[in-house]
Amino acid sequence: MADCLFCNIIAGSIPSNKVYEDETVFAFRDIAPQAPTHILVIPKVHLDSVDAVTPENSPVVAHIFEVIPQIAKAEGLENGYRVVSNCGADAGQTVRHLHFHILGGKPLALEMA
Ligand code: AMP
Ligand code: ZN
Repeated sequence: MADCLFCNIIAGSIPSNKVYEDETVFAFRDIAPQAPTHILVIPKVHLDSVDAVTPENSPVVAHIFEVIPQIAKAEGLENGYRVVSNCGADAGQTVRHLHFHILGGKPLALEMA
């Protein structure tokens, strides 16, 4: 999608600090980190949010969850980490391209809402 920030990051027309890429998945460092390690993992196919996951496109989501532990290991997050996806306005989703935050590198607050 031409006007999507994360599609432009995947295309390389907007720079990013890439940590991982394969045929279907891209991962890069969050520009405003909320923890010592804060990485966003996204599908290369444009999906708006978790709400857009279907039986047809869910294999890419499964693949993202195979990639996440590889990234966590490469980042040295052996003490644990959090995976978050904000979906829609009430969750505070600001970029409408499905993304999973990997947060770690310190003990994280337990607050969920
Ligand atoms: P969310 O609020 O869950 O939609 O998450 C969007 C995330 O994208 C936020 O944590 C932002 O800091 C991050 N973000 C926005 N623009 C960029 C960018 N150009 N490069 C890296 N991360 C970004
Ligand atoms: Zn997009």
